[in-house]
Amino acid sequence: MPIFEYSCSSCGHHFEKLQKAGTEPETKCPACGSAEVRKEISTFSGGSAAASPSSASCFSGG
Ligand SMILES: [Zn+2]
Repeated sequence: MPIFEYSCSSCGHHFEKLQKAGTEPETKCPACGSAEVRKEISTFSGGSAAASPSSASCFSGG
Protein backbone atom coordinates (compact mmCIF):
# COMPACT_ATOMS: atom_id res chain seq x y z
CA MET A 1 0.00 0.00 0.00
CA PRO A 2 1.10 3.55 -0.63
CA ILE A 3 2.73 5.52 2.11
CA PHE A 4 2.03 9.20 2.44
CA GLU A 5 4.36 11.60 4.14
CA TYR A 6 3.09 14.31 6.39
CA SER A 7 4.71 17.34 7.90
CA CYS A 8 3.31 19.03 10.97
CA SER A 9 2.80 22.74 10.50
CA SER A 10 2.71 23.29 14.23
CA CYS A 11 5.91 21.74 15.50
CA GLY A 12 7.42 20.70 12.20
CA HIS A 13 7.48 17.00 12.97
CA HIS A 14 7.84 14.76 9.94
CA PHE A 15 6.08 11.43 9.82
CA GLU A 16 4.55 9.01 7.38
CA LYS A 17 1.37 7.00 7.45
CA LEU A 18 -0.09 4.18 5.49
CA GLN A 19 -3.06 5.08 3.36
CA LYS A 20 -5.56 2.31 3.74
CA ALA A 21 -8.39 1.82 1.30
CA GLY A 22 -11.61 3.45 2.41
CA THR A 23 -9.99 5.66 4.98
CA GLU A 24 -9.77 9.38 5.03
CA PRO A 25 -6.35 10.99 4.67
CA GLU A 26 -6.95 13.01 7.76
CA THR A 27 -4.25 12.50 10.33
CA LYS A 28 -2.78 14.13 13.35
CA CYS A 29 0.73 14.85 14.42
CA PRO A 30 2.02 12.05 16.67
CA ALA A 31 4.40 14.50 18.26
CA CYS A 32 2.19 17.37 19.39
CA GLY A 33 -1.20 16.05 18.32
CA SER A 34 -2.03 19.01 16.15
CA ALA A 35 -4.24 18.51 13.13
CA GLU A 36 -2.36 21.15 11.20
CA VAL A 37 -0.47 18.65 9.11
CA ARG A 38 0.45 18.95 5.48
CA LYS A 39 0.58 16.01 3.14
CA GLU A 40 3.87 15.93 1.36
CA ILE A 41 4.36 14.51 -2.09
CA SER A 42 6.89 11.75 -2.06
CA THR A 43 8.86 10.79 -5.12
CA PHE A 44 6.70 7.98 -6.36
CA SER A 45 6.81 6.63 -9.90
CA GLY A 46 8.59 8.52 -12.66
CA GLY A 47 7.23 11.53 -14.47
CA SER A 48 8.38 14.11 -11.98
CA ALA A 49 8.66 17.65 -13.26
CA ALA A 50 11.39 20.09 -12.37
CA ALA A 51 12.65 19.46 -8.89
CA SER A 52 11.65 21.91 -6.23
CA PRO A 53 14.32 24.27 -4.99
CA SER A 54 15.55 23.66 -1.49
CA SER A 55 13.86 26.14 0.77
CA ALA A 56 16.03 27.54 3.50
CA SER A 57 14.71 27.65 6.99
CA CYS A 58 13.20 30.92 8.08
CA PHE A 59 14.35 30.77 11.64
CA SER A 60 15.62 34.06 12.92
CA GLY A 61 18.86 34.00 14.84
CA GLY A 62 18.41 34.16 18.50
ZN1 LIG B 1 3.33 18.51 15.55
